[in-house]
Amino acid sequence: MKNIDGLEMFSSPEKGRGLRVSRGFSVGELLFSCPAYSSVLSVSERGSCCDLCFRRKQGLARCGKCKKAFYCNASCQKADWAMHKLECSAMVAFGENWCPSERSRLVARILAKKKLQKERCDSEKILLIGEMQSHLEDEDNEKKEKTEADIAGLSRFFSKHLEVPSHRDLLTLFSQVACNGFTIEDDELSHMGTAVYPDVALINHSCLPSVIVTFNGTKAEVRAVQDMKPGDEVLISYIDLLYPTDDRKSRLRESYYFTCECPECQKKIQGRNKKIKLKKTSFSKNFFFRIQTINSDPIEPQVISNMTRYAKNTIREFRSAPPSELLEMCEQSLEEMGAVFEDSNIYVLHMMYQAMGVCIYMQDADGALRYGEKLPFKKTNINLYPPYSLNVSSLYLKLGRIYMTMGRHSEGIKALTKAIAIMEVAHGKDHHYLQDIRKELTQK
Ligand SMILES: [Zn+2]
Ligand SMILES: [Zn+2]
Ligand SMILES: [Zn+2]
Repeated sequence: MKNIDGLEMFSSPEKGRGLRVSRGFSVGELLFSCPAYSSVLSVSERGSCCDLCFRRKQGLARCGKCKKAFYCNASCQKADWAMHKLECSAMVAFGENWCPSERSRLVARILAKKKLQKERCDSEKILLIGEMQSHLEDEDNEKKEKTEADIAGLSRFFSKHLEVPSHRDLLTLFSQVACNGFTIEDDELSHMGTAVYPDVALINHSCLPSVIVTFNGTKAEVRAVQDMKPGDEVLISYIDLLYPTDDRKSRLRESYYFTCECPECQKKIQGRNKKIKLKKTSFSKNFFFRIQTINSDPIEPQVISNMTRYAKNTIREFRSAPPSELLEMCEQSLEEMGAVFEDSNIYVLHMMYQAMGVCIYMQDADGALRYGEKLPFKKTNINLYPPYSLNVSSLYLKLGRIYMTMGRHSEGIKALTKAIAIMEVAHGKDHHYLQDIRKELTQK
């Protein structure tokens, strides 16, 4: 085993393997960076970003054969060929019918790379790709069916260039990718692609993370968001931390098969009441459940639990709804929830965030601001996110950019400055995202 300076793997009976620091790190310091073992650009980003390095820019050069992959230049194209050739001729042959899932595309690349790369590579200084955790035994039928569909896609679209391993080995690999794959997101948290980083996959989850993972191209960078002393565990958050403890726990169990026992989850009752904010009232039994409707009747607990169920269902349905219906869904659910929940209730915040996204997508700046301005996740004395959160920086970034395009420069500068303060810690001061934003600040 090689090593990464300042870091060591450990294993504990409760959590299995993990990563800890062997020296101190301060907020904003880089613990390590890790190139992708394999990465794949989302189909929807083709033409906007380079298929190899994920750089977003104008005037990318197109692959002459398939006309579907785009590159910065000849050297990016050349460097990607060993992976792109898995798809290039198949995309021509299948035409419109070429539709493997992103997970199948990534697994194809991992299989090809395993064949090419016999030595331990730079993303495996501590953990080998084959040593990543799989949860095959824990998967429910829905997950199993999805994997079978992905395996079918793999053999349909990739078998020409791949020696497909045994079914059992494929099941394990798909499970490893499901639990250890990283979504590569841009500065506004838009999905750009998927990748695997064996060394980063070693990091366990906490709802009170000590580090954040950001991306520079396809390279993952791990920076401290808390001061760390020797022996401290390196902990990232696997999920969006906006939601109440019960929601976070069930999400983690569903996707990652463990029960979170982090300090934030231990504060269960308090945290839950804080995040599910109800309408204000003079009728006050305890601080967090101040309840009153317009005619002073307290809201029945049944109404609250029904509304919570309604909110969760809407959030789930929203994920699979057709784009044309999204805004109406947001508006309707916000009206319904508005009768019981305050604007700072997390389900209301969630829907407003979605509504803002839909408006940005439809290039409706006024609509985006109408929702976005209510969002900043800091109400009264309650911070819904930890001090350094990409969810918060991306929100300020979106808001700031909308203000700037509308010519509302002072509000724009204020929002962008807030984004910069978080991103300088999470992304590092020299990241090209920060250079871009600093340029935006001076443009009028
Ligand atoms: Zn490139
Ligand atoms: Zn091609
Ligand atoms: Zn937790």
